Amino acid sequence: MPISNCQLPILREVKQRIILCSICNNLTEIDPYRFCVATSRDHSVICVVEEPHSLVAVEKTRSFKGLYHVLHGSLSPMRHIGPNELHLANLLPRFKPENNGGVEVREVILATNPTTEGEATANYIGRLLKPLGLRVTRIAMGMPVGGDMEYVDEVTMDKALANRHEI
Ligand SMILES: [Zn+2]
Repeated sequence: MPISNCQLPILREVKQRIILCSICNNLTEIDPYRFCVATSRDHSVICVVEEPHSLVAVEKTRSFKGLYHVLHGSLSPMRHIGPNELHLANLLPRFKPENNGGVEVREVILATNPTTEGEATANYIGRLLKPLGLRVTRIAMGMPVGGDMEYVDEVTMDKALANRHEI
């Protein structure tokens, strides 16, 4: 269906309003995204996800109260996506308390998808973060392998989080 002229200004406005948070890379209208500055969120735990919809899947469990980091993708040699193509560069600065509301990060939960790319991404980030001396965990794979977190129900996601293991 063709877009009528009267709808065009509205579409343009939406496109302008949605930006990426400079801290967590989530889609937001205001930078930083509200979670990043919320005192009600636990700033000592960061959950790393591939896409904004994965953040929504974790959030639906209501059991995670920490912060997020959205990569906007996963490592894939076949699709020529390397670490530089992911939104990773702004993750490391977050481990400085002065950049994190004065709070030291003590755990990073790797909640990438249960796919080959998701596993490779979790392993890569795990190796990157381990020398920093913080707890790095991977969500348990009770989830269907090869699936996308978008389609995981809250109960399965909740279990995957609760049964996360240190890597
Ligand atoms: Zn943010």
